[in-house]
Amino acid sequence: MARQEDTIEPVERMDGHELAEVSPQHPMDRLLRRDRLPHIWCAGCGLGTALNCFLSALIQSGLEPDKVAVVSGIGCSGRTAGYVAMDSFHTTHGRAIPFATGLKLANPALKVVVFSGDGDLIAIGGNHFIHAARRNMDLTVICVNNFIYGMTGGQLAPTTPTEARTSTSPAGNRDHPFNLAYLAAASGAAYVARWTTLHVRRLQRSICEALLKPGFSFVEIISPCPTLYGRWNKQKTALDQMAFYKDKSIIQHGADPRTADIGLTGQIIVGKFVDIQKPSYLELQKA
Ligand code: SF4
Ligand code: MG
Repeated sequence: MARQEDTIEPVERMDGHELAEVSPQHPMDRLLRRDRLPHIWCAGCGLGTALNCFLSALIQSGLEPDKVAVVSGIGCSGRTAGYVAMDSFHTTHGRAIPFATGLKLANPALKVVVFSGDGDLIAIGGNHFIHAARRNMDLTVICVNNFIYGMTGGQLAPTTPTEARTSTSPAGNRDHPFNLAYLAAASGAAYVARWTTLHVRRLQRSICEALLKPGFSFVEIISPCPTLYGRWNKQKTALDQMAFYKDKSIIQHGADPRTADIGLTGQIIVGKFVDIQKPSYLELQKA
């Protein structure tokens, strides 16, 4: 008798190659490079949820995956570029936005998405981030913010909340962190939203809106890193972190991003903060 998997039709991948192993099929198979799985992310990491929301939003948007390019920098989030079955770039540390900008300028018909982490996009890549937003460059930037550098050992990042403990601030962070929503809005982004990985439907909807928005659109995803951030801050499991998001998140669409600072134990304001019409970089070049 044929085994069940023998009866499954091969899945055609978006890049035209057939998958070597197709059982069991998953709704996202066509958008993932199954031959690159299993992924490297820890159990309980929020990155799987973030990626799933992105792929769901992509389907919802109606954009053709072969007209979409995904660019990532370095870090746990940066591995995303290697997992999606679309044209993708896994670039050098902090440089995802310049690569993405070049890609968009060379081929304006592409939808270019930057999917990366807070350490990559806002620390070493911070200057690129503010200037792409200032120019209203036609990019969608999705930043998975876990408040630390994950891949390199959980060090302090410019997003680490004040008083949070990390591997390089065991007595607690003394610095004030960036408020990414405010940074993006103040720099000129046309679309700014923030959600946690608990808010999957709302997050998916925001990513879909961001994908369809001309100009610079930005979605921040607050995401658990139980392995490094959580265990230093009394949230030992991903469920502890998700319970924290549930207790502390307040949905405030249209809130002034200046009021949306994130503290160690305080509220997390989430929602769509900015959605404005303004000429994008490419539209200005044509004028
Ligand atoms: Fe996720 Fe943290 Fe593990 Fe990186 S170190 S994969 S961010 S849980
Ligand atoms: Mg990080």
